[in-house]
Amino acid sequence: MTDRSDLEARLDGPDRIAPPDEFVQQANVTDPNIYHEFEQNWPEVWERAADLLDWDSEWDDVLVAEDAPFYEWFVGGELNASYNCVDRHVENGRKNQAALKWEGKLSETRTYTYQDLYREVNEFAAALRELGVEEGDIVTLYMPVVPELPIAMLACARIGAPHSVVFAGLSGKALGTRIERSASEFLVTCDGYYRRGNAFNLKSKADDALLKVDHDVTSVVVDRLGDALPHVVDGDSRDYHDLLAEHAGAVVEPVARDAEDLLFLMYTSGTTGEPKGVEHATGGYLAQVAWTAQSVLDLTPEDTYWCSADIGWITGHSYIVYGPLALGTTTMLYEGSPDYPDRDRIWEIVERNAVDVFYTAPTAIRAFMKWGAEYPERHDLSSLRLLGTVGEPINPRAWKWYYEHVGGGECPIVDTWWQTETGGMMVTTLPGVDDMKPGSAGPPLPGIDTEVVDAAGAPVEDDAAGYLSITRPWPGMVRTLHGDDERFIEEYWTHPDEAPTSDQSDGGWRYDAGDGAMIDEDGYVTVLGRIDDVLSVDGHRLGTMEVESSIVDVEGVAEAAVVVGAGAGGSDVFAYVSTESGRTGDQDLREQIVGNVERDVGEFAAPARIVFTTELPKTRSGKIMRRLLESIARGEPLGDTSALRNPEIVGELKEAARED
Ligand code: ATP
Ligand code: MG
Repeated sequence: MTDRSDLEARLDGPDRIAPPDEFVQQANVTDPNIYHEFEQNWPEVWERAADLLDWDSEWDDVLVAEDAPFYEWFVGGELNASYNCVDRHVENGRKNQAALKWEGKLSETRTYTYQDLYREVNEFAAALRELGVEEGDIVTLYMPVVPELPIAMLACARIGAPHSVVFAGLSGKALGTRIERSASEFLVTCDGYYRRGNAFNLKSKADDALLKVDHDVTSVVVDRLGDALPHVVDGDSRDYHDLLAEHAGAVVEPVARDAEDLLFLMYTSGTTGEPKGVEHATGGYLAQVAWTAQSVLDLTPEDTYWCSADIGWITGHSYIVYGPLALGTTTMLYEGSPDYPDRDRIWEIVERNAVDVFYTAPTAIRAFMKWGAEYPERHDLSSLRLLGTVGEPINPRAWKWYYEHVGGGECPIVDTWWQTETGGMMVTTLPGVDDMKPGSAGPPLPGIDTEVVDAAGAPVEDDAAGYLSITRPWPGMVRTLHGDDERFIEEYWTHPDEAPTSDQSDGGWRYDAGDGAMIDEDGYVTVLGRIDDVLSVDGHRLGTMEVESSIVDVEGVAEAAVVVGAGAGGSDVFAYVSTESGRTGDQDLREQIVGNVERDVGEFAAPARIVFTTELPKTRSGKIMRRLLESIARGEPLGDTSALRNPEIVGELKEAARED
């Protein structure tokens, strides 16, 4: 691996950026001593996060590690997530404040005040009860980003029924497997949604799914499309709006849930393989997402906040729905895509709604960069105070583009590393405290302990690459994989005997994240990508991110993915590259790419072949699927491609790889 100084040399420009004074002056967290406080008083200090919530009864113990790695948090405490996200804001005199602001695909808008949200959540909770949903029953939700989705989530939480949201872009087959595996007997879906302006039938996908499920499922259908698609309510299904009308004005007492009771089940994106059914508990999860929404996203009730993720992924659960609503913020919901009707759609929405905080993914930022700065420049983005990113490593050039062209050089960027399994953010800067280093996520948050270890589990030196691990439990952590405790342990945990540097006072188990990373002398963690994405070239091991970052630094390159393919000399680096609009992949660009990689990483890593493509293959959560590119480079069968969002690109890639 190249060391940290090489990486820094590549950043070209200052490697540390201090948060702007104006931001710091108003930030929720500004005292650097917070790291020390968490260290001194761990785990009791996590009560701070729990104290952001209203509890029906206090906990007896902050952390119980008796049955580690099945850790328990705020044990004995009781609370209700729906009460915390809705009722208490109504009671605190903010019933007329906007809770949800929705931007639909065809530029429709809808606003729900906290009072509106209270009313509809109660009515739908009453309807679910009438349909037979009881505390502990898993309810599957299969909808695009429409207000009825968070409303259904909160209605489930109100009556203690865990939800399992399945991303609407997944196939009927994927939905069927998830319903079957979770033995869910209830489904809330909708008739359809718009794709690039055309009505698309979701109900028929749901019907296909149910054909393959062995048990009976009662469904509710939201009429999203009105006259654009005949609204079919048949067999065991009921119409959402009819149900609301039947229960108009109903009030359902929020059920007091044990802190450790299941709040929801969520399947991972499936970037590296079969999705895992991750379980999250009510108390610890809600405490951690509320705390990080406050300390990292810097949210206050006065803010208009927008996370552009889909609610069907963990980012949407934690930072569109639960975190922001627990704090009483106005949270935006966006159903559409970033380039419809035009490529300034995102910035038009930011301007019109005077969005304060914006949170998105590197895949989106690289697309914005590809389209060009003229789109954000068309709009007044001065309302923005803070920017965030999540989902993949962000290369310094994209980071700087975001900082300059979206943030106007005045907004800190939080590069937040976390996973479905961690529930909430784990590694990132505190924007009112820490300097930023483009390309590096930052230090672990207060109360979180990370370590980079080698294959034998021993901590590596500063700036050396290894496996990212977490050496102490945290409140929002995954409790188990649905119905599979054994796989839960096997997949993530290293036994205390093999994890000598973990905190032995709390069980001593080490959580293995499955990502490659390195930690610098300031304790900043740079995530290098999946362990599976580590390249081995001529006996050198290096992260895909190092080579890709160097390629993307070339003017005119938008995105790059590198893999090791079979070449004349054994194993060669293959680079798949997409360019910014207008630029074709010519010889000059090839030479610049090779030159950059030779300079930044070393000659051995210079791509032997560069394949230009209009798009890289992405999973439905927007991550590059390197496994597929590797198969193409090696001329091997492609394997399972059902997690792909753009399967049509496969043909083009194969063709291009052959020609080159
Ligand atoms: P599966 O586990 O099924 O393969 P997945 O890991 O893509 O799917 P998620 O839980 O949605 O599912 O993604 C978490 C992963 O995303 C992390 O393990 C990491 O690889 C990547 N990631 C998230 N945030 C960042 C970040 N800020 N920097 C680098 N990588 C990140
Ligand atoms: Mg994962």
